[in-house]
Amino acid sequence: MTKHATSAATFRERIGRARAEMASAGVDALLLSVGRDMPYLIGYDAMPLERLTALVVRGDGTCVLVVPRLEAPRVAHHADVFDLVAWGETQDPMTIVVEALAGARTVAVGDQMWARFVLDAQRRLPGVTWSAASAVMAALRAVKDAAEIAALARAGAAADAVAAELLAGEIPLLGRTEAQVSADISARLLERGHDVVNFAIVAAGENAASPHHHPGSRVIRRGDIVLCDFGGTMDGYCSDITRCVHIGEPSADVRDAWDVLRRAQQAAVDAARVGARCEDVDRAARRIIADAGYGDAFIHRTGHGIGMDAHEDPYMVEGNGASLAAGHAFSVEPGIYIAGKWGMRLEDIVVATETGPRRMNDAPRELVVL
Ligand code: ZN
Ligand code: ZN
Ligand code: ZN
Repeated sequence: MTKHATSAATFRERIGRARAEMASAGVDALLLSVGRDMPYLIGYDAMPLERLTALVVRGDGTCVLVVPRLEAPRVAHHADVFDLVAWGETQDPMTIVVEALAGARTVAVGDQMWARFVLDAQRRLPGVTWSAASAVMAALRAVKDAAEIAALARAGAAADAVAAELLAGEIPLLGRTEAQVSADISARLLERGHDVVNFAIVAAGENAASPHHHPGSRVIRRGDIVLCDFGGTMDGYCSDITRCVHIGEPSADVRDAWDVLRRAQQAAVDAARVGARCEDVDRAARRIIADAGYGDAFIHRTGHGIGMDAHEDPYMVEGNGASLAAGHAFSVEPGIYIAGKWGMRLEDIVVATETGPRRMNDAPRELVVL
């Protein structure tokens, strides 16, 4: 149980909204397993193991969780939200799932459900049309309610506290390996209240030009830029922040590029207004970086949605013409990467609100020299 448990009323309301989406998408039933859709709807997380856990949500009324008997004690069973069927070690759970799906003609399957279970279900239900549950669930989950925004803010504040320690020089860098600093940051995320660390990228010097660099044995030296991108999950919601520091005085080109990056990130945050298109947020950052001559060095989209998953809808990327709604939560993280030399990225989580964009991160955004 988390400190801020979601109520049965909230789960019923979410299932109601899922059913409305199912009706408009022509989906008779959802079949969910591993992934965050299930905890969003009923508060239970399927164990990602070989024993099947499945939630069947039917548009016409029933909602049943099929769970291995030995895992049933983990379930906080809200009987007014869903039925619970625990299957024994020698039983075939797919028979229960197939019964629960009887008569459904279109079934939407959770994106992370294991292929072996999906293939088995498809074999046993040959007349069914299959689709992706994200077509129903992604838009629902993308719009956060007040409690979810509060959870994102708490996770953001905890990540900010670690970022502040980094920027204050309280996390030793010089002479340590990227991997050591990554472990240090991870420990601090847990100390600040995260339940798990999802990633702690530490990339020094030329390694910072690789946006998803895996921290390794590279020792941090004088003259390095050190890019740190880290986040975890706290009370079920994710944090994600990137800050950079420089060991010794940066060169003029690094200093100039950081100034460009800061202006680009601010412009993208400012563009993140309710009603703006997701691609407009990307364009706002990209225009400034391109005008400064670094267009080819900004090699990824400007941001991703965030919530129960570290990456989810909506994505701030060219081609996404969807409009921002109040409650959309996402990263704004432009970067500039010069292969073989250096890289930099500046990332905050932002929530679109009726009164304008609201940052979930507030750690200083200067390129701090240590
Ligand atoms: Zn990333
Ligand atoms: Zn990040
Ligand atoms: Zn991110």
